[in-house]
Amino acid sequence: MIPTAFDYRRATSVAEALALLQEGGPEAKLLAGGHSLIPMMKQRLAEPGLLIDIGGLDELRGIEEQDDGDIAIGAAMTHAEIAASELLRAQAPIVAETAAAIGDAQVRNRGTIGGSLAHADPGADLPAVMVALDATIAILGPNGDRQVAAEDFFQDILTVDLEEGEIVTGVCFAPCRSAAYAKLEQRASKFALVGVAAALTLDGGSCSSARVAVTGASSHAQRLGGVEDALAGASLPDGAASAAAGAGDGLEFVNEDLHGSEGYRRAMTAVFARRAIEAAAGRG
Ligand SMILES: Cc1cc2nc3c(=O)[nH]c(=O)nc-3n(C[C@H](O)[C@H](O)[C@H](O)COP(=O)(O)OP(=O)(O)OC[C@H]3O[C@@H](n4cnc5c(N)ncnc54)[C@H](O)[C@@H]3O)c2cc1C
Repeated sequence: MIPTAFDYRRATSVAEALALLQEGGPEAKLLAGGHSLIPMMKQRLAEPGLLIDIGGLDELRGIEEQDDGDIAIGAAMTHAEIAASELLRAQAPIVAETAAAIGDAQVRNRGTIGGSLAHADPGADLPAVMVALDATIAILGPNGDRQVAAEDFFQDILTVDLEEGEIVTGVCFAPCRSAAYAKLEQRASKFALVGVAAALTLDGGSCSSARVAVTGASSHAQRLGGVEDALAGASLPDGAASAAAGAGDGLEFVNEDLHGSEGYRRAMTAVFARRAIEAAAGRG
């Protein structure tokens, strides 16, 4: 289908994008890679009157190690750039590997991390990884900047802690090598029917603490608290299966569609939690 008519402005700075958002009010929408927004516009699920293109803004680009050792990724970095980053491959391989497994080459070349996090598709991969890494989302708006923990940012289906007029400028997390993501993908789109990210703190052969998050199974990316508790003190990889066994049962709401029933997704949550934990433990 053809989208409804809209105006298009290419912002030349983040400040200009913020001003255009103010000017456009509820009619205005940011455009990054367009790989979630344009399909929604074509289906008339979104009918913005003004698109503000932020895709090429230098201020939103870069993958850098900060003075405190944390890694910051600019919102406009594409999945392909994240997948190719030497810094991420060395210090947080889960992020590069997850980006490399998103969609196809066209999607990875256009889609951005900022767009993926702001859109919060229930089957998107990076939200679970950011929750598992305890990442912080950086946001800029008319009232200044603020930081939100990833686990608080994702709230419901396509719903995040982002007010009208605000822009996600980037994401930041501590390096973590012992982390991995495993997904059961929808064959055509590669979106996660179930995807689990596990980030472990390892002490020899045992796990001293863990953050485990799921996407695809439920309305939004969220932690699997029961699995995290079961992992504390567990010896790995042997204890992975028992720690992951109840992963799906702990979810309050589970998606059900033509790709998988609620029961199937609950069962697969346990399977992919085990795989993610074993892969993460193998990196320790
Ligand atoms: C065929 C296909 C397959 C796909 N497969 C996968 C997959 O396997 N895994 C996966 O995770 N994703 C997948 N995607 C989604 C893809 O990763 C999208 O590119 C991504 O989710 C959105 O990023 P974008 O830059 O394209 O955002 P856009 O489409 O440009 O924007 C999406 C939404 O976010 C808002 N937005 C964008 N940037 C910002 C910002 N910086 N601050 C605030 N709001 C912002 C926009 O206003 C819009 O509402 C797929 C998409 C397609 C079309």
